[in-house]
Parts: sequence; C-alpha cells; structure tokens
Amino acid sequence: MSDMKKCSKCGIEKDESEFYKKRSQKDGLNSQCKGCVREYSVNNKDRIKKYQSEYRTKNKENIVDYQKEYRTNNKARLVAYFKKYRAHEKESIDIRRKGYIEQNKNDVKLRKKMYYDQNKERLAEKKRQYYNKNKERLLEYQKRHRDQNKDDISLQKKEYSAQNKESISIRQKKYRTNNKELISERKKAYYVKNKERILSSHEGTYIKSRLGVL
Ligand SMILES: [Zn+2]
Repeated sequence: MSDMKKCSKCGIEKDESEFYKKRSQKDGLNSQCKGCVREYSVNNKDRIKKYQSEYRTKNKENIVDYQKEYRTNNKARLVAYFKKYRAHEKESIDIRRKGYIEQNKNDVKLRKKMYYDQNKERLAEKKRQYYNKNKERLLEYQKRHRDQNKDDISLQKKEYSAQNKESISIRQKKYRTNNKELISERKKAYYVKNKERILSSHEGTYIKSRLGVL
C-alpha cells in the first residue's frame, strides 16, 4: 500500500495517488491534494488565464526557444507519441478540428495563406518531389477518376466555363501573351507531326497560312 500525505490546504490525510507530481518538492508531490488544486483552478479561472497570457507575452522568445530545443531533443519520442495519440483519438480529434475550423474560419484562412506565402518555394519543391515520386500512381488515379466520373466532370466543366467566361478569357489572353514562342513552337511541332493529314484536309490551307508555311 502507498503512503498517506496530509494536504496543506484542506488538512485531510489522503493517499499519495491523490496528489499531483511536482519534481521541485522534496517528496516529489504537490503540497495540495488534487481536489484542492482543481477547486482552486475552477475558482480562479479568469485570474489564471490572465496570468498565463501575460506570462506568455512576456516570455515569448524564451518559450519559442525552449519549445524548439525540446522538439529537437525529443523528436523520435514526440513522433511516436503523436502517432499513438492520433490512432487512439482519431474521431474526437476530427470533431474538434472541424469545430475549430468552423469557428475560426477567417483566422485559419489567414494563417494558411501566411504559411503558404512564407514557404512557397519549399512547398513547391516538396510537391514536385512528391509528384515525381508518385507520377505513375497519380496519373493512373487521375485516369481512373476521369473515366469513372466522365459525365460529372463534363457537366462541371460546362458550368464552370459558363460562370467564368470573362476571367477565363482574360487568363487565356494572358497565357497567350506570355507564351507566344512556346505556343508557336507547339503549333509548328504539331504541324510537322500531322503534316500529311492536315494538308489533305480542307483546313490545310488555312492552317498553312496561319503558320506561315505557305
Ligand atoms: Zn486538499
């Protein structure tokens, strides 16, 4: 059986499991029992919140440094812990996350944008690497997805172009202006590849004149 300890607040002698651990104490336990600690935090909620927020503001840099150091020193342990935690609490995490996002829509959006802006190049590189590594799988998936949703996709496309006529035309114009050489090269390459077919078609004359090959 474990030892008993007298709470400094309520004076009741309780089992040691009724006390939180506190390394700085001689016996490694808080002087007040769990019940008294809980009661105090409930009764002083606002005061504690205010103190913590003030403390965080005053010690911002120290805290950031400490957290960084802690994360670096405990990487493997933290990764293992979060993996286990996520697997265990998946549902409640999802619910909490959704609720948080719902209530903080603007903040989340802003933070996402800030993060994206600050890490643009790194993210683009990561994306590129991921794409190259999974190219075949991704292309296969896209093809399957397209085949399975042909009708939906074509409907979506139609709706999108009907609703965004102006912005699409602006984008296309911009693209054509910015990629003049590329486009003309592509056209020429297409022509070379399909020469015979084009020349034999009734469009042949028009296309030849557009490409300046007449
Ligand atoms: Zn107590």
